[in-house]
Amino acid sequence: MSELFEPAAFRTALQDWLAENDLTPPPGDHSLDAHQAQHLRALKALYAAGWMRYGWPESAGGLGGPEILRAIVGEEIVGRGIDHPGPYSMLEVLTPTMIDYARPELATEMVPKLLSGEESWCQGFSEPGSGSDLASLTTRAVQDGDTWIVNGQKVWTSFAQYASRCVLLTRTGGPDTPNHDAITAFFVDLDSPGVTVRPLRTMHGVDEFCEVYFDDVVVSADRMLGQPGDGWKLAMDLLPYERSTCFWQRIAYLYSRFDALVAEVRGSDKAVDVDLGAAYLALHTLRCRSRATQQRLADGAKLGADTSIDKVLLAAAEQQLYDTVRDLLPGVIELDGGEWRTEYLYSRASSIYGGTAEVQRNIIARRLLDLGKE
Ligand SMILES: Cc1cc2nc3c(=O)[nH]c(=O)nc-3n(C[C@H](O)[C@H](O)[C@H](O)COP(=O)(O)OP(=O)(O)OC[C@H]3O[C@@H](n4cnc5c(N)ncnc54)[C@H](O)[C@@H]3O)c2cc1C
Repeated sequence: MSELFEPAAFRTALQDWLAENDLTPPPGDHSLDAHQAQHLRALKALYAAGWMRYGWPESAGGLGGPEILRAIVGEEIVGRGIDHPGPYSMLEVLTPTMIDYARPELATEMVPKLLSGEESWCQGFSEPGSGSDLASLTTRAVQDGDTWIVNGQKVWTSFAQYASRCVLLTRTGGPDTPNHDAITAFFVDLDSPGVTVRPLRTMHGVDEFCEVYFDDVVVSADRMLGQPGDGWKLAMDLLPYERSTCFWQRIAYLYSRFDALVAEVRGSDKAVDVDLGAAYLALHTLRCRSRATQQRLADGAKLGADTSIDKVLLAAAEQQLYDTVRDLLPGVIELDGGEWRTEYLYSRASSIYGGTAEVQRNIIARRLLDLGKE
């Protein structure tokens, strides 16, 4: 199997497998329920055939090999429209953290459930008063013997209505504990008594994220991720994945939408070349940056503040692509109820989720360019 660790051979073998195993989604249904069902169906087949296991450590049910193999699977699956970039991205956001912070037995038990589509998970970080200023979060966990009792509210929790479990940040420190030592993470079963999940409708007309309420929810101490007070460190380790590797497949998706735009404007008597060229350049710049991030991972680097550059480029490229759609296909965003409109509206979120564009620029200025506090 190890000859498959060579990226070009891996991609060819995967493409051959996909040619023989048709995972095309059923046509016509663009609902979130349909995306989720297709996501689980695709993961199940890909995991059973081994593809979802490459690039993940054997200790967590993986088959080993470099991280770039994960990027190739994501590109092939999402770029072909077999899975949708939203649900797929949760794998890259949450799995590395589980592997690094969960007890080894817990990671070994749980990670295969996520990668195989047996279940989905969500990320419970943001709260009504704590988004950019995440360290101010107030959801509280209080120790009670071998358990912790959680009370509070999360918001913007993507796909929580489909999730069995949540990577949850809570406050465990007292008033004198410095903010960044006062936060502790747990891996919480969302079917626990006291958990209420309420979907929220976004402006693109989809219930993509939720409010999640915790009322005296009992969580076993062995579900703590890391040690008490490690939650801030966990968040700082997770967010770089949310700002870089989770875009591998999204970039492939954006290229596929760029191709669809080119097909729609082909033959138009309008001058389209300059706009299309600029949109392509933004996508290509993003892909080059993303490739460099893969290279850093392959060299053993720990991802950190430098991934804010990937995040800024992703948001800029995605919004430029859909701005170009609006300019070159007059009325399609404003008047049609179709996919371009939905995607245009969703593209506005790309400079918010995973940390806003302003906050990323602050990080770049302060931590990469050493320009001092904002
Ligand atoms: C589609 C989508 C999916 C999401 N999924 C999840 C999820 O699954 N789990 C989760 O936990 N969260 C999720 N979020 C929440 C996301 O992380 C937050 O929206 C984001 O961190 C911003 O926080 P906020 O919304 O509270 O805005 P605020 O922090 O209130 O920011 C409001 C405005 O002020 C600006 N601002 C704030 N602080 C500064 C500063 N220091 N300098 C300059 N400008 C500043 C911001 O840039 C922004 O323009 C999601 C958000 C979206 C849009």
